[in-house]
Amino acid sequence: MVSEDELTSNEKKLFKKVFDGEISLRKIDDHTDTDTGIKIRCAVLERLKDIHFDHILDYTIDAEEAVRRNIENMIGVVQIPLGVAGPLKILGEFADGEYHLPLATTEGALVASVNRGCSAISASGGSRVRIFQDVMTRAPVFKMENIVRTKDFVDWVRRPDIFEQMRDKAGETTRFGELVSVEPFVAGNNVYLRFAFDTKDAMGMNMVTIATDAIVNLISDEFGVYPVSLSGNMCTDKKPAAINNILGRGKTVVAEVEIPEDIIKRKLRSTPESMADVNYRKNLLGSARAGAIGFNAHAANIIAAMYIACGQDAAHVVEGSSAIVTMEVTKYGSLYCSVTLPSLPVGTVGGRTGIGTQKDCLNLLRVAGAGDPPGTNSKKLAEIVASAVLAGEISLIGAQAAGHLARAHAQLGR
Ligand code: NAP
Repeated sequence: MVSEDELTSNEKKLFKKVFDGEISLRKIDDHTDTDTGIKIRCAVLERLKDIHFDHILDYTIDAEEAVRRNIENMIGVVQIPLGVAGPLKILGEFADGEYHLPLATTEGALVASVNRGCSAISASGGSRVRIFQDVMTRAPVFKMENIVRTKDFVDWVRRPDIFEQMRDKAGETTRFGELVSVEPFVAGNNVYLRFAFDTKDAMGMNMVTIATDAIVNLISDEFGVYPVSLSGNMCTDKKPAAINNILGRGKTVVAEVEIPEDIIKRKLRSTPESMADVNYRKNLLGSARAGAIGFNAHAANIIAAMYIACGQDAAHVVEGSSAIVTMEVTKYGSLYCSVTLPSLPVGTVGGRTGIGTQKDCLNLLRVAGAGDPPGTNSKKLAEIVASAVLAGEISLIGAQAAGHLARAHAQLGR
């Protein structure tokens, strides 16, 4: 709570002007420093609503930096409990070793569950993980006069010399981003150009939007068409969409592990057969019957918790959660498990990765900031998140399979 008595005489004057509506809440920062602005905004809201804020003003992050990059009308912070799971042994191209995973969540049992999955994976030799594609996309929409001109435009865009020009134009806007491909899609007299960029350690949404803007200016100059919108929703950002699953967006990552039968029995209290059966009927068949995009048990839980902890864009849980989980009993009687994440946007620079608490979590994974060479830190983070999702899936499917077994035992025992 902000006691009005705690305010200095100047702050009281500002408080009164805001309370009287002379200065709007969003304009307070024009009249004072960021921290005082936050305090006065809270004091005004407390008086207006006749409430007390007991916690949101207790923050250690650099509010000035946050207001500059991440938030408007700031009134404090929301705290989310942060737990750690692991160690998780990872055998990636970029993440290689044992990792402790930061998970920011209010979902009780999630950290414990991931921890159990980490233990099973590590005891089985580790999560093997590879990145198959790494592009961030932006797809402007152009309205054409008719389909004849539509076809001319698509043919023009597909010319290698035009691609070179577009790549050079994009390169003028960024030191790190690089245009990798452009794929035209047509709907009547509308053309969607899905530009795909390598954005190195940045998640890349701002970077590709700025680069795409430069490219559409080139298109306007050279072909005489203007986009209706810089984003035509075939990107597709923060909406569930098949295109991201099929063509990929962000990192396309696969993690796998083979868990021996004795480890399944000891650590998961289940059997390879039972887990494979639950995965088939739940994650694959049940999801298909439901028309789901994600074929998994709770990938979103792990992605959300790690994204929030590590300063990722939490709205990208939408893309990240459309993971496919497979589980098969091998000829040796062990359980082969994999998770495929077609669209995992992550970054270790830009966005909210610089906020103090989030940076602490990135530091725990040794991925904070730019990688050397560029791109290696964000790839490492993607391999870690994918392996964490694998741990979460193994643990939950194991628990459900164990429950099934327990019921079966009870029935058989009667
Ligand atoms: P960004 O902060 O906008 O761009 C990354 C910056 O880091 C660039 O200035 C880049 O340099 C620099 N950089 C330094 N070292 C780098 C390295 N090793 N690899 C890559 N870049 C490096 O971050 P972003 O990921 O593009 O955008 C993230 C933000 O986009 C988030 O805040 C998110 O909320 C927001 N967002 C935007 C949109 C949109 O449509 N605009 C949509 C969704 C989310 P250069 O300047 O030389 O490239």
